[in-house]
Amino acid sequence: MPNAPKRPLLSVAPETSSAASKRGEETLIRVTGVKQSFHQDASADFLVLDDVSMTIRSGEVVGLLGRSGSGKSTLLRIMAGLVAPTAGSVFWHDQPLLGPVPGIGIVFQSYALFPWLTVQENVELGLAAHALPRAEKTARTSEVIDLMGLSGNENAWPRELSGDMLQRTGLARALAGHPDLLVMDEPFAALDVLTAENLRTDLMELWDERKLPLKAMMIVTHSIEEAVLMCDRILVFAANPGRIEHELLIDLPHPRNRDDPTFRELVDHIYSLMTRRTPVVSEADLSEARPASQGPTHMPLPAVTVGSMLGLIEALAAPPLGGHADLPLLASRAQLELDDLFPLVETLQLLGLAELEDGDILLTQEGQHFAGSDADERKAILRHAFLNEAPLMKSICAALDERPNHTVSVTRFRDELQESMSPAYAAQTLQTIVQWARYAELFDFDEERNEFLLTENTFG
Ligand code: ADP
Ligand code: MG
Repeated sequence: MPNAPKRPLLSVAPETSSAASKRGEETLIRVTGVKQSFHQDASADFLVLDDVSMTIRSGEVVGLLGRSGSGKSTLLRIMAGLVAPTAGSVFWHDQPLLGPVPGIGIVFQSYALFPWLTVQENVELGLAAHALPRAEKTARTSEVIDLMGLSGNENAWPRELSGDMLQRTGLARALAGHPDLLVMDEPFAALDVLTAENLRTDLMELWDERKLPLKAMMIVTHSIEEAVLMCDRILVFAANPGRIEHELLIDLPHPRNRDDPTFRELVDHIYSLMTRRTPVVSEADLSEARPASQGPTHMPLPAVTVGSMLGLIEALAAPPLGGHADLPLLASRAQLELDDLFPLVETLQLLGLAELEDGDILLTQEGQHFAGSDADERKAILRHAFLNEAPLMKSICAALDERPNHTVSVTRFRDELQESMSPAYAAQTLQTIVQWARYAELFDFDEERNEFLLTENTFG
């Protein structure tokens, strides 16, 4: 918008000062030592957030970047006052936050609009908690509708709108109350790539031109590029339990250009931070959560199929890559989402078939050897790697060997896994291990009897 007027689009009534004057140097929200656990069963709680501390100051766009299941939405709900943390505190303008406040606007991925209300009525709901005269409510509603490019759609029903318009309505509703802080949970994740890009660009342009009636924004995302496009500061979340592992300042001018070398470097850097192999949870880390006398601690295995491992290794080994590729580039070429690529790359690292170096992935010697092998040899290489690198595989095989009938119930292993991970992760880990074991002909699984078994063809 080169000819956009310099004055803010929003009315500058005393109570509704422009975004420009809204931004100063003040701490808006402060999270200290927040933990969140969910009840699992009588003997255990499942720790989702561990000791999270952070602040958001006026003038900032802060990104919360992490993979699915790392606890981002849980933290966002705690910061919005929708959930009370198990331990730790949240301060909003230096006062304990004890519930939702009008100063924090929220946007969800799922729009969360009422289907029986028009765009106008849905947006007005954002003012429900504000004691404003009728005329002021109407004025504010049409201002934010304008701002979000929804003019002319005031009387439309949600079912008549595209995903783009639905999310613009969600944003307008959150902005109507002129919150100090806007928190957004994966707000573009449900949109197609181009639509998401448009809306993201529009929002950032309004922010840069100080047309948003806000002091700060926080965006939760699992897209590294999105975080680097939008944020002044990125908090990189690690999973299981969720915690802030890295903090990065992004000092690039807006609008940011994906092709800029500095931009690429940052994306590569964050990729490599996020793909470091997750260490096996140590006994010391767990001593708080469970009693001492326990068996081996297992790490959750991602839902990575042998087929997808073979696909990535073959793509990497073939020309023009020749065993070496820029990870973000490979991701976009293979149309892989971050949430699919990371676990895959980590699995190859775990199995000793690939390595990471500054955002690049390289096949190891073993990986190269694997790529050049026939099906039987590949089976043998993976069988060896699974037994050596996945302790769970080894314990199941050992248990099967001990039993005279060579079967063993899944229950014991499920219980063991659930001591150090959530039931969902435990189920996923078991699914993965069975799938790997079947490929490597280590053992099979009888779904009806719920037991692992050695079969005639299994290698034993
Ligand atoms: P993210 O937004 O990063 O994908 P979430 O905050 O949604 O992660 O979830 C983090 C973990 O907490 C997940 O393992 C999820 O299953 C678990 N979780 C979230 N909410 C609840 C709940 N109400 N009860 C039990 N577990 C939950
Ligand atoms: Mg989430």
